[in-house]
Amino acid sequence: MTTNYLEPIKCDVLIVGGGVIGLASAYELSRAGAKVVVIDKFEPGYGCSYGNAGWITPCFAMPLPMPGMLLKSFKWLLDPESPLYIKPELSPTLISWLLRFMASMTESKMLASVDALTQLSKQSLDIYKHLHATAEKKFSFEQKGLFMVAQTDDGLKYAKSEMELVARNGVPGRLMLEEEARAFEPSLTKRIKGGVFFDQEAHAEPLQVTQMLAHEAIKLGAKIISKAEVIDFQTGANGITAARTTRGIFQADQFVLATGSWSHKMGQTLRLKIPVLGGKGYAIITDPLAKNPQRPMMLVEKKVAVTPRNGTLRLAGTLELVNQDETFTTRRVEAIVRGAREFMDVPDSIRYHEIWRGLRPCTPDGVPVISRTARYPNLILATGHQMLGLQSATGTGKLVSDLTLGKPTDVDPKPFRADRF
Ligand SMILES: Cc1cc2nc3c(=O)[nH]c(=O)nc-3n(C[C@H](O)[C@H](O)[C@H](O)COP(=O)(O)OP(=O)(O)OC[C@H]3O[C@@H](n4cnc5c(N)ncnc54)[C@H](O)[C@@H]3O)c2cc1C
Repeated sequence: MTTNYLEPIKCDVLIVGGGVIGLASAYELSRAGAKVVVIDKFEPGYGCSYGNAGWITPCFAMPLPMPGMLLKSFKWLLDPESPLYIKPELSPTLISWLLRFMASMTESKMLASVDALTQLSKQSLDIYKHLHATAEKKFSFEQKGLFMVAQTDDGLKYAKSEMELVARNGVPGRLMLEEEARAFEPSLTKRIKGGVFFDQEAHAEPLQVTQMLAHEAIKLGAKIISKAEVIDFQTGANGITAARTTRGIFQADQFVLATGSWSHKMGQTLRLKIPVLGGKGYAIITDPLAKNPQRPMMLVEKKVAVTPRNGTLRLAGTLELVNQDETFTTRRVEAIVRGAREFMDVPDSIRYHEIWRGLRPCTPDGVPVISRTARYPNLILATGHQMLGLQSATGTGKLVSDLTLGKPTDVDPKPFRADRF
């Protein structure tokens, strides 16, 4: 480390990464009385947390690898328009990730993951409800439920099996057949078989959520610094001592790494293997439809997430496994709109207000890492939240805070430990 820097900035806890996970951790740690600094290489909230579908839906607490996916994954390798696409590549990182992914497709692993993810999501929903009622900075948050709709017998069977799976963890759903489903959601003008409605689920505006968390954390004394990119870390006998960034040196007693899809690369600077790859997805904000959806919907066969907004509509979907590749693929964007058109009247002339892509931080078993590390006793990892980062952020923040401050945790921390990899 050179000596040409300004005086180091000192704090109790330095959080690297100002996405929804880092900011929720900052909020909880500040609430618990810690002196917190968050640094982000861009503007906080503009990574994957910026344009996601906004769902806070414990019914959707599924890991990416599910039993029976193995055969499907081989088909997906060949179809660049499939909802989950894995570009065939001879990369050791991708191959070792895929081997772990396949090993996680067992019934018992899936059930354990669903249990862990549902508990974290349910706790998060409760915290969001509390924040919506009490936070000084208002954010758009509505509890209108989630409708999972299917066009085929197989799709409806899948929705029913998901309903049964999450019912084990106290998330209720109600099955509706064709006529009832159509009357319930008149925007479904095309052929459908039915759906499952989960009435407890909520949705929010993702950027407003990060802005609210940042505001609440700052109110409690946290500092949030933009455009400070971590270059490397300084270590000593007791772990990490400082982070050297493009905007100075930050010393802290404890460090939290919440760098989303950048975590694999970040881990390399610390000689840590963090098996996180990016699951690239797109979201398109369009004009509202003439018959606009009344509530968020998952279009099962197309894996498209539909979220009504104030005056517009958001269509989101696709997952392409990549290692920090942020290129746009227009055909995948168009596949989302075509998918929505199979369920609803989406005119050819529909205008796009914004097209966004983000890299979901994906671990091979679909469960985030929220844990101390063996190599550095004062480092906590909070990453790998795949498709569920918004909906499990506030619970993650509480777990990060409890682990950092050595307090008993509300949820069982074992499923999230780093040493499982
Ligand atoms: C299309 C799509 C739809 C989705 N829909 C939903 C949904 O409805 N509900 C849901 O729960 N989840 C959803 N997700 C997933 C969710 O968006 C992610 O899980 C979540 O945003 C991850 O948050 P994060 O804080 O870990 O990552 P990020 O938001 O990416 O934050 C990481 C931060 O780390 C910073 N950083 C990286 N490297 C450095 C460095 N060297 N120095 C300093 N800072 C650094 C980055 O700038 C970034 O701001 C969706 C994702 C996509 C792509």
